[in-house]
Amino acid sequence: MPYKRILVKLSGEALQAPDGYWLEAQTLAALAGDIARASEAGFQIALVIGGGNIIRGARMSAAGWIDRATADSMGMLATVMNSLALETALNAAGVPARTMSAVSMPTICETYARQPALHHLDKGQVVVLAGGTGNPFFTTDTSAVLRAAELRCDAVLKATQVDGVYSADPKRDPNAKRYERLTHDEAIAADLKVMDTAAFALAREQRLPIVVGSVHAPSSVAAILEGSAPATVVAP
Ligand code: UDP
Repeated sequence: MPYKRILVKLSGEALQAPDGYWLEAQTLAALAGDIARASEAGFQIALVIGGGNIIRGARMSAAGWIDRATADSMGMLATVMNSLALETALNAAGVPARTMSAVSMPTICETYARQPALHHLDKGQVVVLAGGTGNPFFTTDTSAVLRAAELRCDAVLKATQVDGVYSADPKRDPNAKRYERLTHDEAIAADLKVMDTAAFALAREQRLPIVVGSVHAPSSVAAILEGSAPATVVAP
């Protein structure tokens, strides 16, 4: 298997209810069950979940009443709420999980530090990395790549709505083709919306593969990592 330790990046929207409420318990349990199966299959998993189902700092500050740094702080707090929800659902699915936050809040969860995080991963625990990078003006895509590099992950699995990167929107264009492989340079040149450019640039520098796939079907995390479900691999 090419991957042993993997960082799974989920968008906050992955938890959202169809009516727009920020979290749906059923959706959360399905996602956690899928990640638990991948962990039981032997993958070491670190998770980053965004906060876009609650707050996106850039969008909030664009309204003009709040500055970007404050709105981003609120966004980082949103990722902590999502992370605690995932941690709870993972534990309920039978996989030990712990949240580590880049923003120190010791009465709520562990503060992120690299060595303890590596130790938890080695023990087979799922580590949920909350609070983004801990700094405004970044996104959780960038924090996913940063943590993956720090924690010596073999790849980032970026979960999206569709099962890879397509030449056009597959929902609108029946001739859209899914790429099997792209280089980081190609992904950056094409200005793909799958991840922001800062995240791709860091991945390129670190020669870190980004696997883009959909985690809507049951057991899809393990299937993508084992190569039995479709995905696009962005690699050197
Ligand atoms: N954020 C931040 N610094 C970080 C990561 C996130 O300030 O290192 C803030 C930012 O406002 C962002 C929000 O947290 O919009 C939620 O994260 P993101 O937009 O990446 O969530 P996703 O789109 O993945 O749900």
